Amino acid sequence: MRTIAVMNQKGGVGKTTTSVNLAAALARGGQRVCILDLDPQGHASFHLGIEAGEETSTLYDVFSDDATIDDVRQLVAENLSVVPSNIDLAAVEMELAGVSQREFLLKNCLQPWRDQSRFDYVIMDCPPSLGILTINALTAVTEVLIPLQPHFFALQGLSKLFETTALVNRRLNPDLRVTGVALCLYESGTRLATDVTEDLRYFLEASDTDTPWANAQIFRTKVRRNIKLAESPSFGQSIFDYAPRCPGAADYTALADEVFAMLNEADSTNEGLSAAA
Ligand code: ADP
Ligand code: MG
Repeated sequence: MRTIAVMNQKGGVGKTTTSVNLAAALARGGQRVCILDLDPQGHASFHLGIEAGEETSTLYDVFSDDATIDDVRQLVAENLSVVPSNIDLAAVEMELAGVSQREFLLKNCLQPWRDQSRFDYVIMDCPPSLGILTINALTAVTEVLIPLQPHFFALQGLSKLFETTALVNRRLNPDLRVTGVALCLYESGTRLATDVTEDLRYFLEASDTDTPWANAQIFRTKVRRNIKLAESPSFGQSIFDYAPRCPGAADYTALADEVFAMLNEADSTNEGLSAAA
C-alpha cells in the first residue's frame, strides 16, 4: 500500500486538484485508491461530489475516536473512496494540544489497511499549513508529493517545507521521503516557469544525500493551466468525468503514469498504468 501526502503550506498551488485527479486517474487504471481529505475546507470531498454537512460522518469523528476510518469512508467511483472532511476538522488543532502521541493518530488508524493491503494508494490532501493535521499526514506516509506553482517565491516556500519533512523524518517517521515535485498551473513557454524549474533542479542536485528530498524527482509531466480543471470541482466531478478529453485530463493521466512507474521501476516487464487496468 503506497501512502502519499500531497503537501505544500501555500494555498492555491494545486494540492486538491492534484490529489483528486491523480487519485481518479490511478483508480481508472485499476488501482484501489482512497483519498483522505485532511483540509477542514473540505475541498477534496466537494470535488468528488460529497458535501459533508453536519450529519455527515467525517475524518473529525475518526480523530475524536467516535468512528473508525472505514465507518466514514465513502465510495465515490469504481476503485475510488474518500474519507470526507468539513470545518469540524479545524478543531482538531486545538483539541489535540497536549494529547500524547497525537502525531501518530492517523498512522494508527491506517494500520488495519496496511495489514490487509486494503488499498493500493492512500492519497492525503493536506491543508495549507504545517499544523498537527499535516504532521499526522507526514507521520503516516512514506511519500510526499509537492505540487508547486512556478512563481518567483516558490522556492523560498519550498525550503521551509523541506525543513519540516526533515524534522518529521528525524523525530517521527524515518521512512518519510519527498518523492516528487509536480509543477502545476504551468504556463508553458514563459521564462518564469523555465527559470523556476531549472533553479529547483539545481537545488535538488546540490542537496545532501541524507536529506529526505535527496532523490526527489521533478515530474516530466507539467500540469498546464486549463480552465476545465478549475470548473470541474463545482460539478463534483473529477476531470475524467467532467471533461475527459481536455488537456487537464491528459496531464493528470500522464502524471499518474509517472507516479505508478516509480514503484515499478525495477520491474522491466512493467507496461504502465493503462496495461495494469
Ligand atoms: P490548493 O489545494 O493547493 O489550495 P487547488 O487545487 O484548490 O489548490 O487549486 C487552486 C485553484 O486553482 C482552484 O480554483 C483550482 O480549481 C484551480 N486550479 C488548480 N490547478 C489548475 C490548473 N492546472 N489549471 C487551471 N486551474 C487550476
Ligand atoms: Mg486544497
